[in-house]
Amino acid sequence: MTLSIPAALAAAAARFAFSATPRLDAELLMAHALMIDRTALLLDSDRAVSPGFAALVERRAAQEPIAYITGTRGFWSIDLAVGPGVLVPRADSETLIEAAVAQFAGRPPGRILDLGTGPGTLLLAALAEWPAATGLGVDASPDALGYARRNAAALAMEARAAFALGNWGAGIAERFDLVLANPPYVATGDDLPAEVRDHEPAAALFAGADGLDDYRRLAPQLAGLIAPGGAAVIEIGADQAAAVTALLAGAGLRATTVRDLGGRDRCLVATA
Ligand code: GLN
Repeated sequence: MTLSIPAALAAAAARFAFSATPRLDAELLMAHALMIDRTALLLDSDRAVSPGFAALVERRAAQEPIAYITGTRGFWSIDLAVGPGVLVPRADSETLIEAAVAQFAGRPPGRILDLGTGPGTLLLAALAEWPAATGLGVDASPDALGYARRNAAALAMEARAAFALGNWGAGIAERFDLVLANPPYVATGDDLPAEVRDHEPAAALFAGADGLDDYRRLAPQLAGLIAPGGAAVIEIGADQAAAVTALLAGAGLRATTVRDLGGRDRCLVATA
């Protein structure tokens, strides 16, 4: 039996009850199977369902992240290639770019460091925002750096973005106008949706019994990485503002808290 596109979308969405966005998921998979974008699909659904669609639906039904299946995720003004082994960029992390834009209004940062860059998320979004800036992305995962380098090349930013395997700021002698970081901050025992827990890299998510292990490593390094007049913008868990502010204060940094669109504490802007 051959289903029409609307019927195939409805049948697929019905299998994605675990998702916050079952219908959108189905549309993204259908568009991917047809090798068109979602807008084109919505404008003209009078097509044949691609034979590849059923296999994509099975993967999503097993709660694989949509971005792993389609191989791409939009973040800020750019599209990033992603896949198993690298954290999928979250819309909430765009709060960090907004906070940096507010912090550097009228005086663009020249040098940018992204600690735990994953597929290049924060660094490449910042370089898109400030076309004269250059930067360094550091990650402990060679797989993540592979994605980051491919993304920089696809965005024609390879001359402005360098990437290095590393352990947070260890061994970095330079100072940067803007230091970005989205470290792991989930407490080891915390419950995560199966989609995240079973598919995304644990090393990018979990940070010890209280989720603060990587802030304890980062905080003492930051003062030596921020250039005069510069700032660090660090993602935090919604209940971690006080604890991370205290860790930064212990390293001589002042921090203000910025909320995401959902009204949750999402990042700290730290200055010397
Ligand atoms: N916000 C992420 C989540 O979906 C956590 C990312 C992180 O630990 N940096 O759980």
